[in-house]
Amino acid sequence: MKFWDEKIETMPLKDLKELQLKRLKKVIKMAYERNKIYHKKFDEAGIKPDDIKSLDDLNKIPFLTKDELRTYYPFGLLCVELEDCVEVHASSGTTGKPVVAVYTRNDLEVWAEVMARSLWANGLRKSDIMQNAYGYGLFTGAHGFEKGAQKIGAMVVPTSSGNTKRQINIMKDFGTTALACTPSYSLYMAEVAEQMGYSPKDDFKLRIGLFGAEAWSDEMRKKIEEIWGIVAHEHYGLTEIIGPGVVTECEEKKLHINADHFLAEIIDPKTGERLEPGEEGELVFTTLTKEAFPAIRFRTRDIAGYIEEPCECGRTLPIQTRIKGRSDDMMKVKGVIVFPSQIEEAMMKVEGVSGNYQLVKKKEKEITTLQVRVEPTEERYKEGNLDELAKKIEEEIYTILNLRIPVEIVKPNTLPRSEGKAKRVVEE
Ligand SMILES: [Zn+2]
Repeated sequence: MKFWDEKIETMPLKDLKELQLKRLKKVIKMAYERNKIYHKKFDEAGIKPDDIKSLDDLNKIPFLTKDELRTYYPFGLLCVELEDCVEVHASSGTTGKPVVAVYTRNDLEVWAEVMARSLWANGLRKSDIMQNAYGYGLFTGAHGFEKGAQKIGAMVVPTSSGNTKRQINIMKDFGTTALACTPSYSLYMAEVAEQMGYSPKDDFKLRIGLFGAEAWSDEMRKKIEEIWGIVAHEHYGLTEIIGPGVVTECEEKKLHINADHFLAEIIDPKTGERLEPGEEGELVFTTLTKEAFPAIRFRTRDIAGYIEEPCECGRTLPIQTRIKGRSDDMMKVKGVIVFPSQIEEAMMKVEGVSGNYQLVKKKEKEITTLQVRVEPTEERYKEGNLDELAKKIEEEIYTILNLRIPVEIVKPNTLPRSEGKAKRVVEE
């Protein structure tokens, strides 16, 4: 069986949109009737649930922002009784109050279903052993992967993040076949495995990587695939929407939006105007089936393209391109818009680069300057002639951004490592 849910995954777009509209009407009505904040927002915008007659009418509804979610912390947007909820998660809240996600039993079922769909498309099966090295706790990541893998019937090893040597021992002893964690952590694990005398490629049974929670480039993906000898898949999700499971990456490495549950729009991040399929902009999601905390037109601040075209894999679910970065991460350097992922993409094209890097941002009198610190691989470092390496990276960056950004080569193993999300940009 190729698809987890063939009917939905290969449904003609027209039918899918009908299903979306039916579900949208229901969720709008529910939010309006059961939640005071949504009720007030709709009233202020002069909208009644009956005004939603087509998917385009969604345009009339005001956006939901991250700031609002913080304002109504923790349970202000709840549309069911709290006693009907069975699980709660929260974002780390490093930049303010955390964003809370609450789930009814049915919401958890939807979550397990979309995660199973996505893991199945990545090749995860009942016979697999999935090491879950996302951090367990309030963060949604680990829990989503666990629910989906168990729905398929795979065995979950809940190592959580950290204690890397132990991770490697377990991977070896248990015969782990699938690794779920952030892409940067998988690179660090490979480093530690090598230090322990293993060849990541030959000494483990690992065949699939299930990576997310970070923006990473295709070049980084190739690097990880090479080092571990695996197929690396992308996962994308948001606490505000459900956690991981918003998309299903197919074997063509296209990100299909699980659009029967999450309705995507693409907007101009500056004006908020809706863009046409095929264009790139900020992703906006509306949850279509969530009961406890429906998100209606949530502005993700994630920049990507949105495409409604059939895919080689046979899926008809619309596609979002890989996330270029959060609009928050966007920097303006000498008048040029720069995303950290673009610099990563450029530098990973150069041989001898390890994948560990740091972008150093400096602000002087309103002018932002950028510098890149790059760790070469041990072998490349020993070769010397590091100026030449720096120059090559600068050239690649110039090719992509048309911008000169100075590159500093640092000693291997000197930049900070992360067991969760990597912090790529530092301000000095
Ligand atoms: Zn596809």
